Amino acid sequence: MIRKEVKDFEPYTVMEGDYRIWLDKNESPFDLPMELKDSIFDDLKNLEFNRYPDIDGRGLKKKLASSLELHKSNIVVGNGSDQLIDCIMDLFMGDHMIIHTPTFGMYSFYAKKRGLNIVEVPLDEEYDLPAIDYDFEGARVIFICSPNTPTGNVLDREKIIDYLETGCPVVLDEAYADFAENSNLDLIDEYSNLIILRTFSKAYGLAALRVGYAVGDESLMRQMSKIISPYNINKISLEITKRMMDEDKLIQENIEFIKKERENMISELSEYAYPSQTNFVMFDLDAYEYLLKKGIVVRKLSGRLTGKIRVTVGNKEENREVMTALNEFVSVLP
Ligand SMILES: *Cc1c(COP(=O)(O)O)cnc(C)c1O
Repeated sequence: MIRKEVKDFEPYTVMEGDYRIWLDKNESPFDLPMELKDSIFDDLKNLEFNRYPDIDGRGLKKKLASSLELHKSNIVVGNGSDQLIDCIMDLFMGDHMIIHTPTFGMYSFYAKKRGLNIVEVPLDEEYDLPAIDYDFEGARVIFICSPNTPTGNVLDREKIIDYLETGCPVVLDEAYADFAENSNLDLIDEYSNLIILRTFSKAYGLAALRVGYAVGDESLMRQMSKIISPYNINKISLEITKRMMDEDKLIQENIEFIKKERENMISELSEYAYPSQTNFVMFDLDAYEYLLKKGIVVRKLSGRLTGKIRVTVGNKEENREVMTALNEFVSVLP
């Protein structure tokens, strides 16, 4: 018999089709330079495809540990940070989890899959964390996404600390931290109930490889590493990710480009744009269908954000096209 949670489950879908410009998934506009790809593919020839990869991605963990100035045992690597979100929900006791909405959809996805109750705490009118005025009793985990998607803002560090002070497990999703001014990674030294999530899918431009990581207290990460699927990251993804960690200059240049373009996009339509510390911008413009007719796909927002769109920062040409279209849209607004 199929479980009720599965029968009732709404699958995750994305826009597909024959469109010209894709600014809906917060991907990097930069693929690797061809010479770099050539050299990577040469190296991949030496991999033994008949042998399993590192059981726990230890080679990558080692590189991450040295770059973050942490210990290997502070890190768990995942098949995308999505797999880590899934895994974290199996880690703690408690009959519900808390999310701060509007936010990333995958927290609810993995909760619904296991029939775990979701308590939605709305972000305040500035999309920042509200003061704690509810009971954490029985909460399995609190998810906080900062910088948040789809709003783009960083959440107040002092408030994050207030949540940590409750002692409840807190997951701080920093998928977009590379585009922000500050990170809260340092808090893991102080709070053993904190797990920080990072990904190579956004700033590193490696969405195809599906690699993310969790950082936290050693004993907590030891528990997590027991239940994450063995061999969860394939050998090719591990090799390429390790290699890209040595391309700091290239990655930093790409991040600087995106931040600059982001600020240009915001100032060009400042009346409608929200501040962002990510690689996307939320606009208070109901322009989804208008853009789609021009072959440009962005994210249409719903619920509390109905009438708004989220636009990924793309390459120069893509950004010029989407901004031209949005300016046209604005010019005929009633
Ligand atoms: C994109 C994204 C992720 C990550 O993804 P993976 O590709 O699974 O590593 C995680 N959290 C947020 C908020 C994201 O936007």
